[in-house]
Amino acid sequence: MEKIMQVEKNRVVTISYEMKDNQAEILDSSEESGDLTYLHGSSFLVPGFERALDGKKAGDGIQVTIMPTDGYGEYDETLIFQVSRSDFQDGVELYEGLEFEAEVRDELRWCTIAAIEGDVVTVDANHPLAGEELIVQAKVLEIREATPEELEHGHVHGPDDEHHH
Ligand code: ZN
Repeated sequence: MEKIMQVEKNRVVTISYEMKDNQAEILDSSEESGDLTYLHGSSFLVPGFERALDGKKAGDGIQVTIMPTDGYGEYDETLIFQVSRSDFQDGVELYEGLEFEAEVRDELRWCTIAAIEGDVVTVDANHPLAGEELIVQAKVLEIREATPEELEHGHVHGPDDEHHH
């Protein structure tokens, strides 16, 4: 008898999903973004989402409310700070709402420009969904073992991916 595969660390999982905030507004869904394939246990999904999928099998559905501490974190006002325009690379057009990744307190964080006044740029290094309670529905579509190369890279390689190192 074939063993039924479960979602666990180092397996590649494909899901359909819908993520809402607690006002029932859709933040993201596979209807918009396509089904999601990711490496389970690689922190690709927020902790509460991964935990809810642990041990599930293809065809299983989940519905879970994820608190900020298990989601994108609590909103932290000390992660708002001011830098100078010259701290950005030359030629980058800066505007309010611009999102970028940057190292903040030794951690790569998703940042947003909150305001620009003259030479002073106010950066918010909270994830845009920090402090949000997330309501997630998902269905497991497919599970497979990750390849050694995927485990080494820490992410999934699709069938059509260009080879990379
Ligand atoms: Zn890779």
